[in-house]
Amino acid sequence: MQTCRTITEMRAALRAVTGRKIGFVPTMGALHEGHLSLVRAAKTQSDFVVVSIFVNPTQFGPNEDLARYPRPFEQDCGLLEKEGVDTLFVPPVEQMYPPGAVTYVTVEELSGKLDGKSRPSHFRGVATVVSKLFHIVQPDLAFFGQKDAAQVAVIRRMVRDLDMPVRIVVCPIVREPDGLAMSSRNAYLTAQERSTALALSRSLQQVRSVFDKGERRAAVLVAAGKQVIQAEPGARLDYYEAVDPDSLDPVREIAGPTLVAVAAYVGATRLIDNTTLGI
Ligand code: AMP
Repeated sequence: MQTCRTITEMRAALRAVTGRKIGFVPTMGALHEGHLSLVRAAKTQSDFVVVSIFVNPTQFGPNEDLARYPRPFEQDCGLLEKEGVDTLFVPPVEQMYPPGAVTYVTVEELSGKLDGKSRPSHFRGVATVVSKLFHIVQPDLAFFGQKDAAQVAVIRRMVRDLDMPVRIVVCPIVREPDGLAMSSRNAYLTAQERSTALALSRSLQQVRSVFDKGERRAAVLVAAGKQVIQAEPGARLDYYEAVDPDSLDPVREIAGPTLVAVAAYVGATRLIDNTTLGI
């Protein structure tokens, strides 16, 4: 596996790759099976796999966990090497944001929904860095996790609106055996918080079971999910919503594919999870 630290190095590495389908997996590192599932999908569907590790400062709010975000770089390298990744791109912050960088990509409307409500500049940071990474790597396919469903909606819209020549592939949420959605932030949880955190996936199972009994009113389904979170003393709800997966607008009735998404704080850690109904 070749490791590139500058944009120039990355572009030079890619010049040697002609006529092959490039698959790209952008990450912030602290890799787990969720990330590796994207890498495996990329290996299967493309001929040359690029993974990036970049803890992107512009997607963190002023009081968020940028400084303490886990960065187990050596361990991540070992995992990617084992998966047969061709090139790893790990730019330092100054490569991606040189002094004076003031240009951003904003996906209007979508960026203020779901996570964008409580993290106001988050999706602007995500769209900006993903767009920059796409320009650098120029992938044919890019792989994202359904775990970050609102991010998927933002990226898809950006790619469509800006005519970016890349196909977005979305991979299913990878969970721990007890249902907790894998996340780099799970590392922050104490043993007690780890067990409280199960309320998120449990609440979505509850929503699904009410749906399976025939309930189609979004408000009733969301209330069933919220109740599970609110019954857990260590959890604080951020949002619980049933929305159209493309527009992220709330729906009243489940008449087609509907994203049911939850975000909650467990201690100081903000966790997200979701499920799709009606497919
Ligand atoms: P991150 O490092 O958190 O920015 O995540 C990098 C990519 O991995 C994103 O596309 C995430 O949606 C995806 N991802 C993170 N956790 C999971 C998971 N549990 N299952 C599937 N994909 C995931």
